[in-house]
This record gives sequence, structure tokens and C-alpha cells, in this order.
Amino acid sequence: MSFETKKATWSDFLVFMQNRCSRAEFENWIAPIKYVSDCEQITLQVPNVFVQEYLLDNYKEALKSFFPKDKKGEPLISFLIKEGEKKKALKKPESKPKKKSEFEQSLSFNMSYTFENFIEGPSNQFIKSAALGVAAKPGRSYNPFFIHGGVGLGKTHLLHGVGHHIQSHHKKLRIQCITTEAFINDLVFHLRNKSVDRMKRYYRSLDILLVDDIQFLQNRLNFEEEFCNMFEVLINQNKQIVITSDKPPGQLKLSERMIARMEWGLVAHMGTPDLETRVAILQYKAEAVDLHLPNQLAFYIAEHIYNNVRQLEGAINRLSAYCRLMHLKPSQDVVDSTLSEMFQAPARSKISVDRIIHSVASMFNVRESDLRGTSRAKQVAYPRQIAMYLAKELLGESLIKIASAFGGKTHSTLLHAWKKIAQQLETDAVLRRQIQMTRHNIEA
Ligand code: ADP
Ligand code: MG
Repeated sequence: MSFETKKATWSDFLVFMQNRCSRAEFENWIAPIKYVSDCEQITLQVPNVFVQEYLLDNYKEALKSFFPKDKKGEPLISFLIKEGEKKKALKKPESKPKKKSEFEQSLSFNMSYTFENFIEGPSNQFIKSAALGVAAKPGRSYNPFFIHGGVGLGKTHLLHGVGHHIQSHHKKLRIQCITTEAFINDLVFHLRNKSVDRMKRYYRSLDILLVDDIQFLQNRLNFEEEFCNMFEVLINQNKQIVITSDKPPGQLKLSERMIARMEWGLVAHMGTPDLETRVAILQYKAEAVDLHLPNQLAFYIAEHIYNNVRQLEGAINRLSAYCRLMHLKPSQDVVDSTLSEMFQAPARSKISVDRIIHSVASMFNVRESDLRGTSRAKQVAYPRQIAMYLAKELLGESLIKIASAFGGKTHSTLLHAWKKIAQQLETDAVLRRQIQMTRHNIEA
């Protein structure tokens, strides 16, 4: 590795760490480390031995994946302890975290998941402003606030955004941000240690509970019940709960009771961003890593990666690493050779009745099977008509074929639905907006 490459790897490691730990942890422990080496081995300058111990105790695995290893598989790094000008630096830093209590494990928010870093577009504007509302008045606007949507679309980002905002604007509130898996692990730990009451007391004393990926509560009956009880205690005291999930409540395999509780407040769908928003996200991420990305290349990438923001981010990271190592500027050729395997088939060919039904079901929080079914209940029949309208608009197939894909409906049912929605669209602005958003989602 050349000096330049090692230095660049160190910068990549720092970015990785920033995403890994809380701001306080990063500033206390990681930021003071300086990269000094210009010889064979990587040398890190640390203000005292505690920082060195901290890094090796907590992040050895990460170091091993970024830097060369010695014969024993240990990271090939040497440390240089350099006392600061002030003697103070020799002292053990005061904020060295105590052994974290079992409840604090998941308290740290990802530093970059803030509202400011969240790019808005038609697919997520509503959900972002709802999140801002929740963060501004916890427990007093939408409670619970339930965010659902596909993988890599920014659900966790917004959840942490709520956390960051509350943490800095309502300093006294007790807040816990936890993945459903960590919650289950906590519960298992306390069951084993016969300390469930302590855990209950802790959770029930919170002001804000942020729960990521509730779908992992499916098929975990005992845990579900415990979670549901805690949920009720908090909600009954107007404590704010925010939940993310890959599906709307009605599609989760959870008890009716749990589903009903989650539908009490606001259920909001995070759609896939449209082309312009994807371009804005690419440009924002490129700027963050100092990569100059011409507009037409951003459009080109955004046209080929369309349903996952995490992949857009991955594309920028890959492109920027390649350009830096090869001393190249991004060009069409460079993009093709580095990113083509990440590219997806053109979106249009993917539109199908299934996809339309899936998007409409998410948007209106009904089951896909209801849209194919025959129930005339308004909360199902109306979204079904919208799905039929969209299918006729978006698919160039025969009406008979489309109608039969809706669980064997007739051609005249489909035409009736289409006419009704088309007519209503002329006067109903809310419906126009809903259809526009669903369409964005289907076509994205
Ligand atoms: P999810 O929880 O929905 O799977 P994440 O919240 O983990 O997705 O988001 C995946 C990545 O994409 C994160 O790094 C996040 O910061 C980024 N991201 C998603 N949506 C946006 C957005 N609208 N603006 C900026 N970054 C975004
Ligand atoms: Mg997530």
C-alpha cells in the first residue's frame, strides 16, 4: 500500500466509524487519533494509552477489515503515544464510557441520519413532515407514528432523525431507540437473569420509544405480548412511540390486538423516490465524499438504480473509491465499468398487475388479497377501483387480461372502475395526489 492509499483507507475507516458510533463516542475516542505513518507499517498517534485500548477493545474487527493483518491475524498497526501540550491529555479521559448498561446498548443514533441530511421528494415529503411534527411535539401529534416501506428507502434514517431532533430540542426527555431484535435480546437476557421487572420499569419510564423493524416481532408470540403490554402502558401516558416496518400493520403476522394498536395513530408509507429525487440524493452523497459528478451522469445512474437509496449511496462510494485509486474523473465509461453490475433492468418492463396491487395495498393500508377479492366494503372497494384504474392506465394489455388478474373480475367491472376514478379525478385533488404518489411508487 502506498502512503496515499493508506491515508485514503484511514479516511474511509473514519467515515465508517462516524456511521458506527454516537457523536460523543466519535469525538471523545476516534477523532483524537491521528494518522502519521509514512513507512511500511501503519502508525496511529493517540493522545494516551486509553484511546489505544479503546480502539483495540471495541473495533479490532473493523480495523482488521480495513488494514493489513500480521501472521497471527492481528491488525498490523503500531501506536505512538503523543502527549498533548497540556499535561491533562495524559489523564484518563473523563468521559470514558462506563460499561454500558444493557439498556443503553442501542441508544446511539447514527450521526448522519438527521433531518437535514434527508433529501425530500414527492415520495417522502409527507412522511418527513409528519416525522418533523412528531419530533417537535412528542406524544402530542401522531401517536404511534408508524413508518412502512421497502428496504433501503430511509425508514431507519427518519427514525433516527426523530431521535436526534428530540435529543437536541427536548433535553430532559428519556428516549430509547432500539431495533426489534435488540429488544428481543434484551428481553431474553432479563428473562434469564430473572430481572424482567427491572426491564419493564425501565421501558415504562421512557418518554420516547423508537422501534426499528417491527416485522421481526412476527412469529415471536411471547415477546409480542410483552411488547404489546409495554406499548399500551406508554401510549396511555401519551409517551411517543415511533415504529418502522417493511409492511403496513395490516400485513404483519401479528395479533389483531397489536395490529390495532399500531393503527391507532398515523400509518405512513415511504415510497421509492422519483428520478429527480434520486438525482438529488446522488448529488448530495457525491458532494459529501468530494466527488464531482456531472449532471448527466447523475441522471444516468439514477435511471438505472431506482428502488433503493442504499444502493445509490453504494454506487457513489464505489465510484468515488475507484476514481480516487485510479486517478480518474467520473465519465460515462468509468460509470459503466464500475457500476454496470448494480444497474437494474428498465423500470417500465417491471410494471405488472401484481406490482400495482402491491403499491396500492401499501398506500391504502389494505391487504393485497382484499384488492383481488370481492368485498364491497368501502375501505377495500375504493382502493380496488384505484388499482384497476392504474392498471388500465399503465399496462398496455387487454382489459380482459387485466381484469382476470384481479382475481377473475370481468371486463365491464374494470371499465366501470376506470370510468368512476377518471371522473372523480377531475374534481378531487386529494385523489389526484394519492394516485400521483402511487404512480411514482410503481414507476420508480
Ligand atoms: P431502511 O431503514 O428503509 O432500509 P435506511 O434508513 O437504512 O433504509 O436508508 C438506507 C441508506 O440510504 C441510509 O444510508 C440513508 O441515509 C440513505 N437514505 C435513504 N433515504 C434518503 C434520503 N431521502 N436522503 C438521503 N439519504 C437517504
Ligand atoms: Mg432500516
